[in-house]
Amino acid sequence: ATPLAVASGIKEAASRGIVIASEAVFEAVPDVDVVVFDKTGTLTDGDMAVLRVVGDDETAAVAAAAALERFSAHPLATAVVEAAEARIEAADATAAIPDVSADDVTVHDRGVSGEVGDERGRVVVGHPSLLRDEGVTLAPAHETAVEAARDEGAVPVVVGWGGRSRAVLVVGDEPREAWNDVVAAVADGGRREVVVLTGDSERAARRFRDHPDVTDVFAGVPPEAKAETVERLRARGTVAMVGDGSNDAPALAAADIGIALGTGTDIAGDAADAVLVGRDIDAIPEVFSLSTGVNRRIR
Ligand code: ADP
Ligand code: MG
Repeated sequence: ATPLAVASGIKEAASRGIVIASEAVFEAVPDVDVVVFDKTGTLTDGDMAVLRVVGDDETAAVAAAAALERFSAHPLATAVVEAAEARIEAADATAAIPDVSADDVTVHDRGVSGEVGDERGRVVVGHPSLLRDEGVTLAPAHETAVEAARDEGAVPVVVGWGGRSRAVLVVGDEPREAWNDVVAAVADGGRREVVVLTGDSERAARRFRDHPDVTDVFAGVPPEAKAETVERLRARGTVAMVGDGSNDAPALAAADIGIALGTGTDIAGDAADAVLVGRDIDAIPEVFSLSTGVNRRIR
């Protein structure tokens, strides 16, 4: 290896907001056969917003949800907290949204649970399957709202307590503008496979299937199973995983090369070989071209 080529590659990358944590990036990236993209916050815009709330007492539901989502770094959590804050600001009467606090909070891979206020007891917010696992039954109207959200490519965040769902917060989850071009660039005319991996539903991931360079879409993969899926994909060759900062750390570590979006927590950064700081997936083609350039000089 020529240390000079590596050092200047690291410097060049850093100037573009790409932090190279492991020199293995330069060696391995040009040989990558499969590029795996996480969906939420990676292929889609991390800047999500609550589009609407379906429920009888929206105000109480949003307040309870936000009290718990404050403890999560997930992009969905940020959207819920912002929605609650916007409602507080919009309310001209005295605090239409009670600023409730939470106790005994557990941050799950699919949402958050905890004690909110005195009379509600344990509140659960997150993926419908998390609510079911925590003993909260979805009301028929809320099941309908969940399906409707998925049909439009949005993410349903359900909140419930006392065994019953109380509201569905429909969170918009739009693909990043650059996603089509980024996928085409890394696929490099079919030289590489591109896989989309998501804990979200099949329908929410459907829009990514139509891209000619996307070879597989794995939906409904819970966060804890993502690493396993990446591990299995390694049978197809060298795997690069691109994930967001909040709960993809095991999947990033399981890949030959892990590339993390530097938003949110830095936990995923520890598991990553490259971190995109202040950049999003539009930097991925640069990671590939830069690595190819350095590689040519060190081989
Ligand atoms: P993706 O695989 O698409 O990136 P994640 O693995 O981050 O999605 O999360 C899977 C699903 O779990 C999300 O689609 C969402 O339904 C739910 N989820 C995860 N964290 C939260 C949270 N803090 N609040 C609400 N829902 C959540
Ligand atoms: Mg994610």
